[in-house]
Amino acid sequence: MPSLKDFRRVLLKISGEGLMGSRDYGLDTTIVGRIAQDIKDVVQQGIQVCLVIGGGNIFRGVKGAAEGMDRTSADYMGMLATVMNALAVQNALEQVGVSTRVQSAIPMSAVCEPYIRRRAVRHMEKGRVVIFAAGTGNPFFTTDTAAALRAIEVNCDALLKATQVDGVYSADPKSDPQATRYEALSYTEVLTKDLRVMDASAIALARENRMPVVVFNMHGQGAFGQVMRGEGRYTIIT
Ligand code: UDP
Repeated sequence: MPSLKDFRRVLLKISGEGLMGSRDYGLDTTIVGRIAQDIKDVVQQGIQVCLVIGGGNIFRGVKGAAEGMDRTSADYMGMLATVMNALAVQNALEQVGVSTRVQSAIPMSAVCEPYIRRRAVRHMEKGRVVIFAAGTGNPFFTTDTAAALRAIEVNCDALLKATQVDGVYSADPKSDPQATRYEALSYTEVLTKDLRVMDASAIALARENRMPVVVFNMHGQGAFGQVMRGEGRYTIIT
């Protein structure tokens, strides 16, 4: 089992909902600011950090499709939503003095850099936080899959998935009091038990490339740094 304390480069996946706070839609700038501070603390520990941010707080392709839109167009809207979130997190990080670059899978030269793997790695080596926007750039995927893909591409030691609960449970702990938390799981267990922590394609990609996935709760102040020190509660999938 890999030790979290040994990880030198990690990808943090934050869902769009993770930026919403108690709102129904959009961004809570206080929450975004707190997350930026947490990321700064980890960068200051000498750990290279890159981010993938979802878009579910603004737009989700499946929802648009359910309401009658063409799925492909709806997914492109979802990907554009992730670019908005990436710019918000970039702004918050720069406000706390962290140097950043946004790289989009859909080139948008007036707004950010295009995704270029070697350049992303170089930025991280210089201590910059790289924010990967627009998911994989392809419809019919999710930002979880984008997170697994980018973590593998840029040689991260682990993919950290920030969620609303402190790990993976046997059932939804919010609705089932019998739900128990797993300390560790295998990729195959996640798939066969249908634990729905990430979509199946993301888990399959992580399994094929032996990318450890750490699931933890981003809500508490300093939660990201705590997990990187191997403290606090989380589930590790290997
Ligand atoms: N999306 C996509 N391709 C990708 C990543 C995202 O089409 O590679 C679209 C998809 O419509 C998705 C939306 O972007 O619903 C927002 O991403 P996601 O639902 O993964 O965000 P999260 O749930 O993490 O907030």
